[in-house]
Amino acid sequence: MTLHAPLVEQADAFTGNALLLTGPARVGKRAAAWAIAAAQNCQGARGMDGAACGVCRSCAALAAGAHPDVLLVEPRATTAAGKAARRKLIPIGAVLEGRDKGREYETHVYEFLEVRPSFQRRVVIVDGAEYLGPEAANALLKLVEEPPHRALFLFLAEDRRSVLPTIVSRSARLGVAPLADHTLESALLRAGHPADAELIAFAAGRAGVLNDLDGVRAALEDARELDNSLGVGLLSALEAAERLEKRFDPAWHPEALRFTWRERPAYQRARADTALDALQGALEAYASPSLSFQVFALNVRDAFGLS
Ligand SMILES: [Zn+2]
Repeated sequence: MTLHAPLVEQADAFTGNALLLTGPARVGKRAAAWAIAAAQNCQGARGMDGAACGVCRSCAALAAGAHPDVLLVEPRATTAAGKAARRKLIPIGAVLEGRDKGREYETHVYEFLEVRPSFQRRVVIVDGAEYLGPEAANALLKLVEEPPHRALFLFLAEDRRSVLPTIVSRSARLGVAPLADHTLESALLRAGHPADAELIAFAAGRAGVLNDLDGVRAALEDARELDNSLGVGLLSALEAAERLEKRFDPAWHPEALRFTWRERPAYQRARADTALDALQGALEAYASPSLSFQVFALNVRDAFGLS
């Protein structure tokens, strides 16, 4: 079942070779792309909304993460030392086997598309189209214009404006919008979880948040604990900083902290955000984590006028 069913229908009606799915981080772009790939290859009885049956051989292969006709291409962190190591890029080596010097990609787009589909249609999902380097994009263009065996390209990006114009101009655009709170809540209940108003508020319509419930809940809990400790006293603030350091997950904690501060006055939020940016900068520069978290806790206490 897909939360973005209308997109599957729209993709079905589309007769071209490339779709550009845009929407905020964790809104569910990748899940939508998998749902489209599933529908394009489904051999069973598809739902009213065009959704894949979920039980045929193709659907089973997709669920097992071993579908022969679907290729996921993602950026890799470049290997240069220091801060540059965090720069993400999809190199030409992802497209052409002969150019993958670091052997970073197991399957390459060009070689992948030479082979006939095992089911119906080969689908290449490029998650992070904004990270396509010019060389890789150029190598893809010919394939996008005349895809072998009617292959379908799904480019996913947060912002269309950061994708190379050559890719944008050859793709039809589909927006992946945040969902209504009640839709997310039903999905949560259907998956066997209790309703959780705080989690739904944090998700703000982004279906992808539901994919890492444990990580999100832990981050929200830690953020609340830090917030409570700040007012108790200096020592308890430093202890909370130490606990935060031990469990810090760069994917969720910064967002959870900002969420916890959301009802504070704007000037306090701005100052706390500055402290959080400084913490993230220090961690990226490999400063001492323990010291950085202590400084962070002191700065946030200060930001909230608690020191
Ligand atoms: Zn199926």
